[in-house]
Amino acid sequence: MTRRGPNPARRTSRRAFLRDGAILLTGAAVLPGRLAGENLPKPDLRLGLVTDMHYADKDARSKRHYRQTLTKFAEAAGQFEKEKVDLVVELGDIIDGADSVETEKAWLRRIVKDFSTGPGQHHYVLGNHCVYSLTKGEFLEIVGRKESFYSFDAGGWHFVILDACFREDGEPYGRKNYDWTDANIPPAEAKWLREDLGKTAHKTVVFVHQRLDVDPPMGIKNAPQIRRILEASGKVLAVLQGHHHQGGYSEIGGIHYCTLRGMIEGSGPDNNSYAVMDLFPDVAARITGWRKQKSYPSLRGQAAKPASQPVR
Ligand SMILES: [Zn+2]
Repeated sequence: MTRRGPNPARRTSRRAFLRDGAILLTGAAVLPGRLAGENLPKPDLRLGLVTDMHYADKDARSKRHYRQTLTKFAEAAGQFEKEKVDLVVELGDIIDGADSVETEKAWLRRIVKDFSTGPGQHHYVLGNHCVYSLTKGEFLEIVGRKESFYSFDAGGWHFVILDACFREDGEPYGRKNYDWTDANIPPAEAKWLREDLGKTAHKTVVFVHQRLDVDPPMGIKNAPQIRRILEASGKVLAVLQGHHHQGGYSEIGGIHYCTLRGMIEGSGPDNNSYAVMDLFPDVAARITGWRKQKSYPSLRGQAAKPASQPVR
């Protein structure tokens, strides 16, 4: 029998919830939550999150059942619909690699057809597998975006999508020209990020495929430089990442780095994973994980404030 529903962290008893609630206390106000029967205010915004879907019309290899991504994502999309999410972000590797450009394009078109018809706005973070045979230009054309890194505002929050699919020498990934352990955010993108964070007045959430909280091979080579930019802005609450399929979490310099679990890992609905992230007005977030995805009930951050010093 398969259980459809949130992981046990979401099914905690009222007593356990009150314990979590105590962690969420801020002055006299309790942060909002969404448990049934609780009369609580709504979050600013709700996000649906998935990562490492690795869709491909090819036979399973090891624990990766590529074709099952369609049914796994259908379940996630159904939940996002129920939860009335405002936007959905996939954190990279939406497809797996094919030997030919045409096959890879066909797989991408197939999964984008499902991904883009769900509720809310849709955003794609570039992962190494997204541009195995394809170029970035070909990928972006199919997903309907102009840039591989950009920012946008929604619900009083600022969101940044980063692209770490660059070799150390600055060459963008594409046409099998890269080693996946050589992930970098080049100087021009780092400069753009610093300026973009300088301009916004909003609390910010960052999305990136490879990790900014660990060293290579799973981490971005110049992650320490990028973390300094994020920290100096004083505006970033959390960084959402993929790539490392087992998932993970760390807090560095007051910023939460959450690596979501890869949807591709394992067969059947019980091995699915996806999440809903709620963003609250007093600079806090809650991530509710479904199936194998862990929950993070309380991610608190510093209030948005301008950078006190320029960052180099
Ligand atoms: Zn992956």
